[in-house]
Amino acid sequence: INTIAVLTSGGDAPGMNAAIRAVVRKAIANGKKVKGIKRGYAGLLDEDIVDLGAQDVSDIIQRGGTVLYTARCAEFRTAEGQAKGAEICRKHGIDGLVVIGGDGSFAGAQKLANLGINTIGLPGTIDLDIACTEYTIGFDTAVNTAMEAIDKVRDTSTSHERCSIIEVMGRHAGYIALWCGIANGAEDILLPEKYEYDEQQLINNIIKNRKKGKKHHIIINAEGIGHSSSMAKRIEAATGIETRATILGHMQRGGSPTAKDRVYASMMGALAVDLLCAGETNRVVGYRDGDYVDFDINEALAMTKGISEYQYEVSKMLAV
Ligand code: ATP
Repeated sequence: INTIAVLTSGGDAPGMNAAIRAVVRKAIANGKKVKGIKRGYAGLLDEDIVDLGAQDVSDIIQRGGTVLYTARCAEFRTAEGQAKGAEICRKHGIDGLVVIGGDGSFAGAQKLANLGINTIGLPGTIDLDIACTEYTIGFDTAVNTAMEAIDKVRDTSTSHERCSIIEVMGRHAGYIALWCGIANGAEDILLPEKYEYDEQQLINNIIKNRKKGKKHHIIINAEGIGHSSSMAKRIEAATGIETRATILGHMQRGGSPTAKDRVYASMMGALAVDLLCAGETNRVVGYRDGDYVDFDINEALAMTKGISEYQYEVSKMLAV
């Protein structure tokens, strides 16, 4: 391997910059040239490629988002797009590529690996929805951001003796909702994995809690379970308790990464470079049982995982 490139793809996540910085500086330390590809696979096909030195990634470890920008690219899903991408890599002397993104981005990396470009994927998504790993870059920051926002909503919700529905990200995976459910002491958590959402049961629970003397009722709703604003109107009509919906939205994707996201992203970035330098390709880095590990991309994409049943049980048991 002579030249290692790095790109970010799919949804952005806090900590991606720490990973980019680690890739650049570790590759230089290993005697390699480094290039940054802007806007994911779209930038690869547009040849939006720049040389990166150690100082080009100064002052970014503490910043959210991704300095390389990110995009989704329909053309790269086609065989022609992938062949063009591999050709552009060769033209720029790129023989190793680190792809920071989610499962879709890994599928793209797998295609490039099949075309002779050595690729390593790093899990970058706030949703934690990558099966081969217990940690993804950005999840820790996103959960902390959502937790702080929910605390604030709870203050005003208690003062006004309201019910609050707070919608967090996670269309297909309820990890942020489940973690906040425990961290914020929510009365109810609605998860895509537990599609047992029964509005009448929710209403009964709100009325029961009010009778017990609870001044607030926090419902954390994972995006995709239902429309939070209309749910709030129906609950208010049924309970007579003022109910408001707050949709946290994209604020959960931004912000300065936590120490955990900076450190894990840095370790994963360094490992990706070492794997490339050891001649590995078509691998994805993960974190399991206290260690940084790597898997074949094909195997990683075939894995499945679910939320912890025990964690879900505990969250419900503590919300009395
Ligand atoms: P997120 O978790 O944020 O959604 P992701 O990496 O899963 O991240 P996708 O939009 O699925 O996000 O994929 C990002 C990009 O990767 C796509 O726009 C496309 O360019 C490329 N990609 C996705 N799937 C494939 C595939 N099967 N083959 C080739 N490229 C793909």
